[in-house]
Amino acid sequence: MQTLLSLKNIQCQFDDRIVIDNLSLHINEGNLVCLLGPSGCGKTTVLRAIAGFHALNAGEIRIREQLVSSTSRFLPPEKRHLGMVFQDYALFPHLNLKDNIAFGLDSKTRVESQRIVGEMLELVGLQGLEKRFPHEISGGQQQRVALARALAPKPDLVLMDEPFSNLDVDMRERLSEEVRDILEHQGATAILVTHDQHEAFALGEQIGVMHDGRLLQWDTPYNLYHEPNCRFVADFIGQGVFLPGTLLAPDTVATAIGTYQGNRAYSWGKGADVGVLFRPDDIVPDSSSDLKGKIIKKAFKGAEILYTLRLPTGHEVLSLFPSHLDHGLGEEVGIRIEADHLVAFAETR
Ligand code: ATP
Repeated sequence: MQTLLSLKNIQCQFDDRIVIDNLSLHINEGNLVCLLGPSGCGKTTVLRAIAGFHALNAGEIRIREQLVSSTSRFLPPEKRHLGMVFQDYALFPHLNLKDNIAFGLDSKTRVESQRIVGEMLELVGLQGLEKRFPHEISGGQQQRVALARALAPKPDLVLMDEPFSNLDVDMRERLSEEVRDILEHQGATAILVTHDQHEAFALGEQIGVMHDGRLLQWDTPYNLYHEPNCRFVADFIGQGVFLPGTLLAPDTVATAIGTYQGNRAYSWGKGADVGVLFRPDDIVPDSSSDLKGKIIKKAFKGAEILYTLRLPTGHEVLSLFPSHLDHGLGEEVGIRIEADHLVAFAETR
């Protein structure tokens, strides 16, 4: 598959401060990817550098192999053939939906432009609303119009910066799934920037986790959750706890909840102290188990209940029980480890 976008060792600064450092990534045509990270980690700056709104101090950016940014070259944003969708919709309030969507189509004939607008309205499920103005539709609908406007000129790449953050939580998840379907249907290549992992999981086939201007891991949602490559990613993605453990063999650790053999081998040597990651789905109910945990918190999640359990050693773990196993606070429940992924880091906390 053809590489559509490549960032090679890019660095960006504001005044003297480096905010993006030595960041590289490649995106193939048709990929839907996300940049995920906490506020201030540099996600928007990366997107702005790709769009041509921020210059590079080092490295290069290529779109379809064409060099668009380096320290010696800078192709202006309007020549990069990108579509953009931002948090605040940025629709033109004085234009109806049809004219908003047609905004980037001025090089087309009237008939052609009308055909594309009709196709886009259908794509985002807003047929019949073309005469409405932005203030006459909901936030979710406005964001769909913004997407339709970005897709109408058939850009090489769609850039989306926190496009759902003005919407309520339910709407956010629903719309991110819808947007993924729309982009897939169009065969579009897109990058979404977000601090919300649920949004990233709903949309991204590949997700890059950023921290402090660096890309820490570029991987599938499954691997980010089950195979985090560093402590930051392990903490940032999903829930879980680290328990102190002792390495008995490269793939086996002893912890407060038992000895656990996993799929990774570590080379710290027998007896090394490690921190072992346990996700809530790694610890399952087992009424016949000798290992008991006392329920100190519970959170109803619908199909499951998330219990925080205190072990006899004083450590706390999280465990997901099917929600028909409804226990009260203070009750002791039997648990066992059921996990394939051994994730351990040398540092303990
Ligand atoms: P958020 O999720 O809050 O939008 P982000 O991950 O997108 O954050 P950026 O907006 O890219 O982060 O900011 C990266 C760093 O650059 C931050 O430390 C921020 O304070 C700094 N920064 C951003 N814009 C400017 C600016 N115009 N002038 C100076 N520093 C800036």
